[in-house]
Amino acid sequence: MDIAQEQFESYVRIAIDNIPSVYRDKLDNVTFRTEKEPSPAQRQSLGLRPCDALYGLYEGVPLPRRNGTTHLILPDTITIFMHPMTHHFNDQKSLQRQIYKTIWHEVAHYFGLGHDRIHAVESSLKQHPDND
Ligand SMILES: [Zn+2]
Repeated sequence: MDIAQEQFESYVRIAIDNIPSVYRDKLDNVTFRTEKEPSPAQRQSLGLRPCDALYGLYEGVPLPRRNGTTHLILPDTITIFMHPMTHHFNDQKSLQRQIYKTIWHEVAHYFGLGHDRIHAVESSLKQHPDND
């Protein structure tokens, strides 16, 4: 769908606001960014094939791996990629749902969760009537 970047960014802000506060309050030294597309370097570091769509990316040192030295490391960055999502979703509701899912997914990486745990949480969210 066609959507202005400002509109997309406002969806991203809404999604961040909707992260349960128990997690949001612990987001320390994390920057959220919106980019149109992943950079060639980001795609390469993830080993993406040209056909692979990337919606979001977490770059940083997950919380459990820090040893109280956050002042020595760069802020973590969670980047949300606009075009892969706007190309794939044709209505505002599915787009907003995917933005929220992607942000939650990347925030979960920040908390040190691996994909097994993230997918388990995601499927429990899907069973909640408000999420579908
Ligand atoms: Zn992931």
